[in-house]
Amino acid sequence: MVTLTFDVLRQQLRGDVIASDDEGYEQARAVYNAMIDKRPVVVTRPVNAGDVIAAVNFARESHLPIAIRGGGHSVPGFGTCDGGVVIDLSRMRGVRVNPEKKTARAEGGATWGDFNAATYPFGLATTGGIISTTGVSGLTLGGGIGYLARGFGLSLDNLLSADVVTADGKFLIASEKENEDLFWAIRGGGGNFGVLTSLEFRLHPVKDIYGGPMFFELKDIKAILDFYRDYIKDAPEEMGCFPAFQIAPPLPFIPEKRHGDTLALMVACWAGPLDKGEKALKPFHDVAPVVAEHVGPMPYPALNSAFDALYPPGLQHYWKANFVKELTDDAIVAHVEHGSKVPALTSTMHIYPINGAVHRVASDATAFGHRDANFATVIAGMWPDPTHNKANIKWVRDYYEATAPHSEEGGYINFAADDDQGRAPANFGVNYNRLVAAKRKYDPDNMFRFNQNIKP
Ligand SMILES: Cc1cc2nc3c(=O)[nH]c(=O)nc-3n(C[C@H](O)[C@H](O)[C@H](O)COP(=O)(O)OP(=O)(O)OC[C@H]3O[C@@H](n4cnc5c(N)ncnc54)[C@H](O)[C@@H]3O)c2cc1C
Repeated sequence: MVTLTFDVLRQQLRGDVIASDDEGYEQARAVYNAMIDKRPVVVTRPVNAGDVIAAVNFARESHLPIAIRGGGHSVPGFGTCDGGVVIDLSRMRGVRVNPEKKTARAEGGATWGDFNAATYPFGLATTGGIISTTGVSGLTLGGGIGYLARGFGLSLDNLLSADVVTADGKFLIASEKENEDLFWAIRGGGGNFGVLTSLEFRLHPVKDIYGGPMFFELKDIKAILDFYRDYIKDAPEEMGCFPAFQIAPPLPFIPEKRHGDTLALMVACWAGPLDKGEKALKPFHDVAPVVAEHVGPMPYPALNSAFDALYPPGLQHYWKANFVKELTDDAIVAHVEHGSKVPALTSTMHIYPINGAVHRVASDATAFGHRDANFATVIAGMWPDPTHNKANIKWVRDYYEATAPHSEEGGYINFAADDDQGRAPANFGVNYNRLVAAKRKYDPDNMFRFNQNIKP
């Protein structure tokens, strides 16, 4: 019976329909995190909103849940599933810029690389993430923290409207003027409410930036963190930056004899006037001597893709996250202890600032529930060899246990792990109850359940 229904689905979709006995299934079921090994009933690759509607209707009529895949970066692997229908939007990656209105509309499967490549020639950008291979949709639905957030808010603060296919197969436009409750919910509620087939963003005048990575001796990390927590409170909003622990990769600008050493890292992005860039980065250079750096003027998309090669698809991933109001002395002690033990070249810990423009949006204006936090931390365990899973997961958990007492109860849903599912009320924060109401209205049967799930 299921085979017969696939035939109908194949007739309805202009895109691909890949069932378990089809060629390409093994590749189609895989996601970015190689630790995820799930077997969906079928993977669909729509090419337009009509295809998405057909796939959603098929799933609902077959009583199957849906996993939505945008850029595929979900660390818990929410872009695939066991026994459900995958809607993989990777064939829908177009981006159209309206330079006059300073807006851009991205299809639901676009990555930030697609987005930035389209907006850069117009000297425009909006807040995206730190690397370019992450999906625009998934990142925006949970928040969207990146270099430009202090100046322009979270990615979701720049969302003007979205086209959404809901669980009943309806196509809705969500904006401040239409389906306002859905528009509110998708700005922070993750992939719980439907499939976004396109997203329209406000753009800002950003073309070339001044910045890049600065490596310091590990012994200077305490001084760097002490400096950072004070500096970032009222640093100019053109400055996006974050400190990290990082094993030195074999890059040409790092002295060869330091490759493989654990170092302190600060990455900066000055999006103000270029001729003021050097001065803007001076406070970092004054904290401690730099071991190696690669800073200067560069296109914003170049910084946004500078770390892509470090994080190719196929690594093992296990991450944990916290929101932080104050970076206390005790928190810094815990960071120094655990960050210094970072076990893999690709593992790291970042402390992102989320003040500035992020704080100028009211806590209930969108579903993002942690506007009062000043920082979002991520302990990102990423390593190549699955036989090392136990030790790497332990590093993430120990680090998390040590820093959680100095943090808010919730963490950023886009960085959270699958075993954080029980923490939904804390992770969604002050807006959780209103999100539950929206879930009951738009997805009462929880068809969209492969996400940081809001139970209807
Ligand atoms: C290497 C790496 C770097 C990252 N850097 C950052 C960063 O700098 N800033 C930041 O904020 N986050 C960052 N993240 C986290 C990232 O925001 C989340 O992993 C996000 O969910 C990824 O979105 P995606 O579309 O790529 O993922 P997917 O796995 O495709 O989707 C993840 C979730 O979003 C939902 N979703 C995706 N597309 C749609 C759609 N079109 N309609 C409805 N629901 C959809 C899915 O249901 C799923 O729940 C990073 C993640 C990785 C792995």
